[in-house]
Amino acid sequence: METLYLARYLVPISGAALEGGALAVRHGQIVDLGTIKDMTAAHPRAAVVDFGDDSVLLPPLVNAHTHLELTHFPQWAAQRGDQSTPGDFVDWILRIIRVKRAVDPDLFAVSLREGIRASLAAGTGAVGDILSWLPARSQYGNAPLYGRLYLETLGLDPANNRKLLRNLGKIAEECLAGRLRLGLAPHSSYNLSGEYLEMIFNYARRHGLPLSTHLAESSAEVQFLMDSSGPIAERLYPMVGWRDMLPPAARRRPVAYLAERGGLVPDNLLVHGVRVDAHDCEEIARAGASVVLCPRSNQCLGVGLAPLEDYLATGVNLALGTDSLASNDSLSVWDELAFARQAFAGRLAPLDLLRMATCNGARALGLGSEMGSLAPRMGAHFQVLRAGSLPTFGDLEEFLVSPGRTAEVRALYLAGREVNFALDPSSEVC
Ligand SMILES: [Zn+2]
Repeated sequence: METLYLARYLVPISGAALEGGALAVRHGQIVDLGTIKDMTAAHPRAAVVDFGDDSVLLPPLVNAHTHLELTHFPQWAAQRGDQSTPGDFVDWILRIIRVKRAVDPDLFAVSLREGIRASLAAGTGAVGDILSWLPARSQYGNAPLYGRLYLETLGLDPANNRKLLRNLGKIAEECLAGRLRLGLAPHSSYNLSGEYLEMIFNYARRHGLPLSTHLAESSAEVQFLMDSSGPIAERLYPMVGWRDMLPPAARRRPVAYLAERGGLVPDNLLVHGVRVDAHDCEEIARAGASVVLCPRSNQCLGVGLAPLEDYLATGVNLALGTDSLASNDSLSVWDELAFARQAFAGRLAPLDLLRMATCNGARALGLGSEMGSLAPRMGAHFQVLRAGSLPTFGDLEEFLVSPGRTAEVRALYLAGREVNFALDPSSEVC
């Protein structure tokens, strides 16, 4: 049974947008697309769903970096009266540790479930999600989201690290959490020992597991990896009981340090990449790794803005992420796009920004042949916006990267099925 989905504008991302467009879907796959006139002639027996004159049909967005278990973080912080604006990046980390330690672990599952719901409601079809409370992965069981679920780990104590890795390995054997492929997230180079980082990277290589690592997020990280000093050494290490475990000065920049540990590889999804220079970007490009930019989180923490020109010059695959609600005010990639348009001051064309949030994100999560653009043989994954007033065809791309799109998401289809994002996502049937 074929269905034709009609919209005023159809934006395939991989090809030219169409005014009066139709998407033909069969068995959860896209089989054809074109103008309404051509498609109704070519598929005369197809059922028809017409989204109307105020609709835009385009791929779902991809949130390539987030921590959905922290969706309720603002409420948890408020309940503790711990809402002070962090003075700097390390203050923010200390606040996260304080708040997370005070939360009943069962609440991470509730918070993750709300994160899944909010993501779907904002037209997100895939996530690169980081999870620290590992039992909460069951929330993905029947959820319709795609992507990867990276199991977070960190630590400095060798005996404990071996135990942690054994446990992660056992969970990773499950391969999937719902539709998300499981991977590992060695958090960052300042809260794992060099030896533990190497163990994780070796393990992932041997078992074919995808990875994600926070990289070069702040000047504090750069300083710590250079000479084991600064706010990470002075405030974070004592707070978590690592005062006596300071590593010797590595004298390396974050990218070089990661490369020496074996972590600069194509399937390590690098997150933030703010404090990098042109040479670092060349090394990342040579390794074939993707980078997720999270500009709203970076602004919230005052760590700067990623060097867009250096990345663009080297052709690194750039994706977009919201990070968590501990450093952002929404999980909507539409909101992230609008912010990025303004933060990068027009240095990226609207269509290039849209690519970051769709096909580039899908590629970064290993979904490049499945999601992120509308083309025959891709999965029937798409969303529909319905706006009070749509722009002319020529202004459509600019409209899509302007504020206000989140509230216009009216429908999300994953694998050809409409997602009812008002429902508890864990009750969705795949
Ligand atoms: Zn993060």
